[in-house]
Amino acid sequence: MRQIEYEIINTVEKLFADKKIDIFIGYKKGTLSLQTSPYFLSEQDDVRKLVWNSFCSNNLAVFIPRIIPNSKSKESKPVGILCKGCDSRSLVGLIKEKQINRDNLFIIGISCPGIVDRRKILSRLDGKEIIGIDEDADSIVVKLKDGEKRFEKEEYLCESCLNCAHPTPSIYDVLIRGAVYSLQAITPDPITKDFSSKPREERWKIFETEVSKCIRCYACRDACPNCYCKECFAEQTKPQWLGVSKGLSEVIFYHIVRILHQAGRCVDCGACVRACPMDINLRLFTRVMVDEVKERFGYEPGISLKDTPPLATFSADDKQEFMTEPE
Ligand code: SF4
Ligand code: SF4
Ligand code: SF4
Repeated sequence: MRQIEYEIINTVEKLFADKKIDIFIGYKKGTLSLQTSPYFLSEQDDVRKLVWNSFCSNNLAVFIPRIIPNSKSKESKPVGILCKGCDSRSLVGLIKEKQINRDNLFIIGISCPGIVDRRKILSRLDGKEIIGIDEDADSIVVKLKDGEKRFEKEEYLCESCLNCAHPTPSIYDVLIRGAVYSLQAITPDPITKDFSSKPREERWKIFETEVSKCIRCYACRDACPNCYCKECFAEQTKPQWLGVSKGLSEVIFYHIVRILHQAGRCVDCGACVRACPMDINLRLFTRVMVDEVKERFGYEPGISLKDTPPLATFSADDKQEFMTEPE
């Protein structure tokens, strides 16, 4: 990890020295244990604060539509950004949806070994205070006042990383090759396959139970690169699509619309899941959508800049029985 961190720092330093970028988005040490924070730095800032570790969990593509204009002026330089596989797939989606221009980006891609789920580790610590963290290629060592605990990374990865088929970025200007984990990606995802195999009433019950915990903080929306609308339907007042309470019917409406808006767009990065303070299993529903789109239309978002998203095209061979003959 340290070697990769040096490579990132050296590359960013050179980009600033060569006047290729004015701003870079990466990660720095977080204020809480087992976390990092997004780090926006310009030439004046300390590039040595950049970090790369198993807790670089934010999908940094989320910031791009918010900070750079789609049209490129002659004076503006590209924005530099560090991208894992899923961040780059989100950028591909944003480019295809005309939210950003590829020329406005300088992408440092990094082959991703997977992100460790801090909640899984915290659940094994019985609330004990963490006084330090060490990390080697295979494990995380958590230092506590009364000793230390070692966690094998492979057992504590986020669910989306456990079944990630594309850990290496699909687009980049420079690629830093880290170790890519050796787990076998499976489609459909085993967890969502089990969910999809249940009767409709049972699936609805699971959905209702999960989303009933929602407090409508919108952290899931704000963590997602696909949610770039300047005014979200959930907060719109003219017209008003839904009220502001966290009553079940309004929460259900919010989630159904959010999930449907992800069809053919969600890259299964898991950022929304990690952002949710109520620990709601949001991935269960968006990953079902990912697998459905792949099965019905043979489409995976973020893999290519050339193919057309299924909701932006039509083929006479498209499967339609889910509309014409619903179960
Ligand atoms: S989903 Fe894939 S690319 Fe994204 S953090 Fe997980 S392993 Fe890395
Ligand atoms: S819905 Fe969640 S998993 Fe899908 S792209 Fe958005 S943040 Fe990532
Ligand atoms: S982050 Fe969680 S609690 Fe907040 S709106 Fe999304 S699902 Fe609801």
